[in-house]
Amino acid sequence: MARVALVTGGMGGLGEAICIKMAALGYHVVTTYSPGNTKAKDWLATMEQQGFKFRAFPCDVADYDSAQQCVAQIVNEIGPVDVLVNNAGITRDMTFKKMGKTDWDAVMKTNLDSVFNMTKPVCDGMTDRGWGRVINISSVNGQKGAFGQTNYSAAKAGMHGFTKALALEVARKGVTVNTISPGYIGTKMVMAIPQEVLESKIIPQIPMSRLGKPEEVAGLVAYLASDEAAFLTGANIAINGGQHMY
Ligand code: NDP
Repeated sequence: MARVALVTGGMGGLGEAICIKMAALGYHVVTTYSPGNTKAKDWLATMEQQGFKFRAFPCDVADYDSAQQCVAQIVNEIGPVDVLVNNAGITRDMTFKKMGKTDWDAVMKTNLDSVFNMTKPVCDGMTDRGWGRVINISSVNGQKGAFGQTNYSAAKAGMHGFTKALALEVARKGVTVNTISPGYIGTKMVMAIPQEVLESKIIPQIPMSRLGKPEEVAGLVAYLASDEAAFLTGANIAINGGQHMY
């Protein structure tokens, strides 16, 4: 039977590429969207036209109860989650001087609390079945820091602390937990940055002189989810064109 892969935020730039890659590999792909997202049906229809029949469930990953209900519904309607990709995330960039508590809380809840909220209802099932993969999408800025991103850098760094600790706890049960830290990836969000800024400020920071492709991140997710990656756990894998090496 096909393994179930749950990708949070699968309708976003990176999430979509991850969903497509996992579906192409034969996973039963399920995704989530924010309860207020009015474009979810359109996205599902577009994907279906491209040959991908995804299931999508409303879920506010920042909210514990919403996450529990969402996973319970997925398990009930589709089956136990074998691969969880914690991909949903937001930014609220501003200098620390300007940052208010709501900007801090929004980013911490959506990017870090969400990892707890979504992993909690799937982890015991994975250890009971003796197989599972938790893949957390962090960011280069969690390691390197970034001007205007105290909230985002803290949340993204926190994901890796979570990864290492949980990896230790579930290592003997066939479950791996890893972090992927992408650099600048050519998603719609990044491509919306004016070309001039991309060329003068961003690309020069990247030794490969280009943005990453969402498919390159998706390929790494697919590897971490595979049986071949069974010995790889607690890692933080950089995928940033050489922008930041650690
Ligand atoms: P997008 O903004 O395109 O997608 C983010 C996704 O997260 C959306 O599908 C959105 O769903 C979902 N989301 C946001 N808040 C919530 C919430 N409260 N509950 C449920 N879903 C939510 O971003 P990217 O695809 O670019 O980024 C994906 C991940 O990769 C993020 O974690 C980001 O931090 C990380 N990343 C991205 C990089 C890049 O260059 N693009 C670089 C490094 C890291 P909806 O639209 O329904 O709200």
